[in-house]
Amino acid sequence: MDMKKRYALLLGLILLIVGAALLGYRMGWVPQVKAQETTTQRSMILMDTVVDVRVDGRNSAALVERVFQRMAELEKLFSRFIPESEVSAINRAAGDWVEVSPLTLELVELGMEMSRITDGAFDLTIGAVLDLWGFGSDIRRVPEEDELREALATVDFTQVEVNRKQGAVRIPQGTVLDLGGIAKGFIVGQGIEILRDAGVERALINAGGDISVVGRRPDGRPWRVGVQDPDQPSSIRYVLPLDDQSVVTSGDYQRYFTVEGVRYHHIIDPFTGYPARGLRSVTIVGDDPAMCDAISTAVFVLGWAEGRALVERLPGVEAILVTDTDAWISPGLAEAMASQ
Ligand code: AMP
Ligand code: MG
Repeated sequence: MDMKKRYALLLGLILLIVGAALLGYRMGWVPQVKAQETTTQRSMILMDTVVDVRVDGRNSAALVERVFQRMAELEKLFSRFIPESEVSAINRAAGDWVEVSPLTLELVELGMEMSRITDGAFDLTIGAVLDLWGFGSDIRRVPEEDELREALATVDFTQVEVNRKQGAVRIPQGTVLDLGGIAKGFIVGQGIEILRDAGVERALINAGGDISVVGRRPDGRPWRVGVQDPDQPSSIRYVLPLDDQSVVTSGDYQRYFTVEGVRYHHIIDPFTGYPARGLRSVTIVGDDPAMCDAISTAVFVLGWAEGRALVERLPGVEAILVTDTDAWISPGLAEAMASQ
């Protein structure tokens, strides 16, 4: 075969391959990259729950990765059940100043502010009381009155000190910081911030039912988020529209144990030392997930009347309060639900 024929054959072969590839592409035999296929969704266990991150748009896979990485890093800083965490360091060194990273300082300061705003219904120094009930460990029991009294004496958010210049925190000896009522929201908020900074138009982070969204759904309507029924947590009782917002729920069905027919759950009234009674669940909708998180815990503690008063006092905060027999939906949320 002379050179010309060889070239012609080679050219023919190349054309055939390219043609076949093009045909396959058009017929859908080979994967196509379409605009809407740049959605990335992934789940991971973090903060004791399943966390789901969905991001739409360019670079979505890398962004989801970054969000998970950041959230995992923050959990390692904030969990008092991880001995190497900065919150554990503060608790171990109670009585002395402990230098922490800027985000730990920010979370502690926000925890203090939320304790002030809620008049101590949310109190970040509740740790010693939680320990008596055994939340966070496997041994759960009803504590004795005098044990509770002793632990309650260590609960006082006004005693937490922060030195911004040094980046340091100090709590009194005997006090135990617990950020379980705010850290999840804060961590989700940090994930959302990464996505907003990257210019993402549409995203959703779901941390065990506490959900924050960026933007709206692909069809331009608000996201729709279900709120569980406290009596039947596997079924949805309300559907809320979410538009660039966060929703957080505190409920007595989330973590509890039962002794002689009485349910003891993980949201403790800092004024009595006992699980807060009255409400079954509190759902808060607002702009900042960390604040929503702390407010949901505080409203649960405050109960039907005072909890409702707190919601009405806070601008931009909507809520659903559920008791065994009744429910209250804040007017702004009721309106949004009706028009979705
Ligand atoms: P949440 O599910 O957001 O209501 O938070 C409940 C968690 O917050 C518990 O597991 C505790 O770690 C912590 N906690 C319980 N009671 C209080 C309280 N009164 N103030 C602050 N944190 C609390
Ligand atoms: Mg909370």
